[in-house]
Amino acid sequence: MGRTAKAAVVREVGGPYSIESVELDDLRPDEVYVRVEAAGVCHTDANMQVMVPMPAVLGHEGSGIVEEVGAAVDYVKPGDRVIISWPACGVCPNCLTGRRYICDNAFPLLFSGRRLDGSQTIKLGGEWISGSWFQQSSFATYALTPVESLVKVEDDIPPEILAALPCGAMTGAGAVVSALQVGPQDGLLVLGGGGVGLSAVMAAHMAGAYPIIVVDVNTERLALALELGATHAVNAAEEDAAARVQEISPGGVRYAFDSSGVVASWKVAAVSVRAGGIFGVCAAVEQETLGGSPHIMLSKGNRIQFIMGGSVVPRVFLPKMIEWYRQGRFPVDRLVKTFPFSQINEAFAAAHHGDAVKPVLLMP
Ligand SMILES: [Zn+2]
Ligand SMILES: [Zn+2]
Repeated sequence: MGRTAKAAVVREVGGPYSIESVELDDLRPDEVYVRVEAAGVCHTDANMQVMVPMPAVLGHEGSGIVEEVGAAVDYVKPGDRVIISWPACGVCPNCLTGRRYICDNAFPLLFSGRRLDGSQTIKLGGEWISGSWFQQSSFATYALTPVESLVKVEDDIPPEILAALPCGAMTGAGAVVSALQVGPQDGLLVLGGGGVGLSAVMAAHMAGAYPIIVVDVNTERLALALELGATHAVNAAEEDAAARVQEISPGGVRYAFDSSGVVASWKVAAVSVRAGGIFGVCAAVEQETLGGSPHIMLSKGNRIQFIMGGSVVPRVFLPKMIEWYRQGRFPVDRLVKTFPFSQINEAFAAAHHGDAVKPVLLMP
């Protein structure tokens, strides 16, 4: 086996993480070992555990330093700083036409716990367990990942900022900039003020959109949304969100974007998107959600657009996000709260209870 690492192992769905020694498989020619410096905590790591056989090593927002490269790798070399972004197969029709974010092999690449060829990458106590989560399993001191997933970056940005970018922030900003293409003449309604929703707010602010209305039930997040560029904040626990949207923007808004996945958000979106407008959705949706809303949207000729990975190509988009951050236009640091790797369970609890918008683990 190729390399030992300390990894956060989860043994049952919803169970606690325990940090244990694991062995990573040997590198294939197109693979890289990354010494992980930081790893973002995302709701997907909690909500999608049912997809993968247990035990498993999760984590899909790694940043770090290239430690060793396979024989066919020339994009990076040892010592390079990288973000480990979303995987894609590179050879399916969508990948070949520049749409790697909807790779035909996305599901097995993200959730099978194995390489695409079915082989496994992590051993615990001599037995194979699920690794290759998003082809990285970065809740560990080392990650084995295909070079295709890597984005090479400069050395001047802290690892916890880099690890906050490749899933949630990229999804929110990409939804606004790439998928919906919100512009200066457009109103945007953002449903859910977590890391994804607030990243959408920052991007819409850069794009000059008006109004930018954020709906959430967390007072602190609504206050933060206003600081990050939202023009209006609506607390759905205290007021009728749909009615407030009509007051703020009579007739509604051209775009709505849901990062919450709850029925109540779809109901607000259905009555708030103008005729001909688009409702972008990036959250896994409660099954009953589709029952109530579409007929209202039918009468307005609305489009519902599901958005994977922000509809962006990470090697193109992540360097842009980093440049915006340098310029002070995309202050993603306002979302980040760091935790030592040993406090991974506390980090998930903070995310679950809304105490941290974007927890990021720092590896020892
Ligand atoms: Zn593909
Ligand atoms: Zn994620």
